[in-house]
Amino acid sequence: MLVSQQAEGMSALTELYKEIATCRQCELAGQRTRVVPGEGAEDAAVLFIGEAPGWHEDQQGRPFVGSAGQFLEELLASIGLKRQDVYICNVLKCRPPDNRDPLPIEIKTCQQWLDRQLQLIHPKMIVTLGRYSMARFFPGETITKIHGKARREGGVIYYAMYHPAAALHQQKLRETIKADMLKIPPLLAEIGKPPETKAVEEPQQLSLL
Ligand code: URA
Repeated sequence: MLVSQQAEGMSALTELYKEIATCRQCELAGQRTRVVPGEGAEDAAVLFIGEAPGWHEDQQGRPFVGSAGQFLEELLASIGLKRQDVYICNVLKCRPPDNRDPLPIEIKTCQQWLDRQLQLIHPKMIVTLGRYSMARFFPGETITKIHGKARREGGVIYYAMYHPAAALHQQKLRETIKADMLKIPPLLAEIGKPPETKAVEEPQQLSLL
């Protein structure tokens, strides 16, 4: 990316954060402490999308800063990354009361912000964490079937993982999530290589939707 383009992208993302902070398009706005737009490298190759801010995120205005966030940081460290090397955001930018599931109307209303983040950041790889972000990029799929498998489309790799919070409640998922995270570096290494030079078929590729 040219330096000038990067500077443009950075300022556009900062502008976007200001817009998101003033959003009052759904009822969650009236109940939030702070809006949680997302954070990380503005030219990140990998972008992680969770569900919605929880209590800690709502207090701090930052995504994944509670116990699920600690596990996410551990997972990132396992592939040599820190949170500032990637971009982390959520489907919803405001906390649903009592951490209830996002409502369809909230997801629909908030989608514009995620769309604009994706346009500005242009990640090479989009990793969905949990079912709400998975539903956006893998409609009709189930996490048990597709986790840890990559789908390539339009020069972007889409990759679904279990939500890190799931490992906090179900110990057996912890190893699955760790193993799925370890598949990310080889997928990233593949990007830019012509298809015929691909050495391995692992992780398994999903057919195009
Ligand atoms: N869970 C999420 O989905 N997102 C956060 O930011 C924190 C917990």
